[in-house]
Amino acid sequence: MRDYTDTYKKRTPKSGALHQRALAILPGGINHNIRFYPPYPIYVQRAQGPRIWDVDGNEYIDLWMVHLSAILGHAHPAVIEALEEQAPNALHYGLVHERMLDLGELVCEMVPCAEMVRFCGSGTEATHYAARLARAYTGKRVIAKVEGGWHGGNDVLQVAWTYPYDRPLSGVIPDAQRYTVVIPFNDLEGTESVLAKHQEDLAAVIIEPVLGAGGCIPADREYLLRLGEITERYGSLLIFDEVITGFRFPHCAQGLYDIKPDLTTLGKTLGGGLPIGAICGRGEIMELATPSKGTFIGGGTFSGNVSTMTTGIATLTYLKEHPSLYERIALAGDTLRRGIDGVFTDHGIRAQTTGTGSMLATHFPLEDIEVKSNRDAAERCDPAKTSEYNIRLINHGVFFIPGHGGAISGVHGEREMQQILHAAEIVATEMSEG
Ligand code: PMP
Repeated sequence: MRDYTDTYKKRTPKSGALHQRALAILPGGINHNIRFYPPYPIYVQRAQGPRIWDVDGNEYIDLWMVHLSAILGHAHPAVIEALEEQAPNALHYGLVHERMLDLGELVCEMVPCAEMVRFCGSGTEATHYAARLARAYTGKRVIAKVEGGWHGGNDVLQVAWTYPYDRPLSGVIPDAQRYTVVIPFNDLEGTESVLAKHQEDLAAVIIEPVLGAGGCIPADREYLLRLGEITERYGSLLIFDEVITGFRFPHCAQGLYDIKPDLTTLGKTLGGGLPIGAICGRGEIMELATPSKGTFIGGGTFSGNVSTMTTGIATLTYLKEHPSLYERIALAGDTLRRGIDGVFTDHGIRAQTTGTGSMLATHFPLEDIEVKSNRDAAERCDPAKTSEYNIRLINHGVFFIPGHGGAISGVHGEREMQQILHAAEIVATEMSEG
């Protein structure tokens, strides 16, 4: 057992015991696969602002931030107060109410492509329905998605989301994925040649403008523009999956890139801390979801529930009223990206922290390359080193889920930045000493 894992275990015995208890009743001890990492995950006791505390009393600066969703930090007063006011009047009515209009109008105002919106329960549902809507609108079957793109656990889109990309997905019949094709991220030529083969039958290309789970890697603007041109030429739709990037930039990633997709899927930040998904986009496409028009995209017992609408409204309203938050978190992102890479370079270790704005993930390239795709991160970097880096950071009070990136929130201040860079410096020293 390596020393850093021993240190981790010594610091977290209560988490270790709870994990053992969990294994008896929860398969793998978790309810979301990403939340397990070896040797076992820390159990959280509470979270506030930019910090979390585990059951062993350790304090961490959180950079995982609820799967990159908590842009206002944990338990932001504006969000909690709004929910406290609503809760005595019921958490969900199971019927329509005005708050869903208030949040819908905010989405249409803040997301450039959004003329209409449909709320659902999760990002997985949103991308599932977006693919269905695209097929219904175009009358075509093929959906293209990029290597390393994660769109949730639905059968149509859970293809090539992690390396190696051709791994079959147990329990999913190949026929369910027969009309899903995979394109290489940020590789124009490779992408064009795949799409050209399917031009007659291409319903949509779905892409995260900045890969999230795939390594916090931004798409080149040129690449996204070209996807827009190709989909338009082929009579297909361009879908941006902005479940992570939605509201993480002013006017989302589509505002950042100044590219309007036909449809957008949203989730995470939109819910202000409670579960949500949404599909929005051009009115004539979204209209197909009207019950009388026959494209069924709308079940979900908890869709549009008043609690999530309330926390979502509180969050988007806060973001709208504090636009400077975006500048601050982007600057903090630059500081961390530069600072982390700098301390590793100083210790003779190649590191590249990718991302844009507040999103970041550190990769350890095996050669001098620029990490431009999930394939680069998997084949030309050392993913085991990223996990080691993250476990070591946890030992020094900075939390990312090992092997993954994270995001800065509006409540991560100067003090947190310094603590993170200090921890990175210690970890770089440890890793350089082997
Ligand atoms: N799309 C993207 C880009 C995501 O990052 C995620 C979740 N990580 C999803 C879809 C699925 O969302 P959910 O977990 O809410 O189902």
